[in-house]
Amino acid sequence: MKINFWGVRGSYPCWGDHCTQIGGQTSCVSATLSNTQQSHIIFDMGTGMIALGKQLRDQGIKQITIIVSHFHLDHLMGLAFFKPIWDEDTTLTFYSPHLSKGLDLETTLKTKLFCPPLFPVPFQEVPATCHFKTFQTGDSLSLPNEITLKTLDLNHPGCATGYRLEHKGKAFCYITDHEHSADFNEAQMLDFVQNADLMVFDTMFTPEDFQTYATWGHSSWRSGVDVALKAAVKKLALFHMSPDYNDDKLLEIEQDAQRLFPNTLLAREGSSVDL
Ligand SMILES: [Zn+2]
Ligand SMILES: [Zn+2]
Repeated sequence: MKINFWGVRGSYPCWGDHCTQIGGQTSCVSATLSNTQQSHIIFDMGTGMIALGKQLRDQGIKQITIIVSHFHLDHLMGLAFFKPIWDEDTTLTFYSPHLSKGLDLETTLKTKLFCPPLFPVPFQEVPATCHFKTFQTGDSLSLPNEITLKTLDLNHPGCATGYRLEHKGKAFCYITDHEHSADFNEAQMLDFVQNADLMVFDTMFTPEDFQTYATWGHSSWRSGVDVALKAAVKKLALFHMSPDYNDDKLLEIEQDAQRLFPNTLLAREGSSVDL
């Protein structure tokens, strides 16, 4: 399994000299699985998805699975500009949770995002074939080609879902948009990510800034390290970083985290991790 980072920022994209090393696109991570037909699995549809879409189009990939953590705009805004949805030969299968009030991804795309005045083309006119698989967070799902996808409720305004993808003895956890707290299902979280080969974790803030932004639904890098240590995670990727942090600050954060947990890396746009 290979994990590829296409967008690593939280909240909104950023650009300019201060973020050239780490990257400025919002959440999008892909998992490339060897020896399977369902080999392109995408986590979240942030603006990082736009560059990924160009690559998939150029490679002629026509079967794509997209797994969505929640429906905040920074996790959806890449879809309209994702080249494969404008190709009638492409089939997209979306996995996403039911939100409260019965709102699901299909309804959100059709009635909110792909809808004038926000976007000129109604979702019904998207040429690609789209399938929507909706679940209750907590469910464990079997995907084709012996892939298991486990789901976990996260601590985030309006809810978000964390994922554990298992394939051929490897486990990848995608935990973003989550405010880690000992009071919010900590035991469940530790059990969920136990022994993961790689855990992507929402580390939007420094521990100092977290004091200001507590209740916003995001964690500090210190929480990511604590979870990794307690759950014997093999590798931790710091993710969904604040767009206010420049490259120098993020590289300092990476070093601080590595002092406590050496197998930490800062997710960098365009980089990959082999599991
Ligand atoms: Zn977010
Ligand atoms: Zn969010």
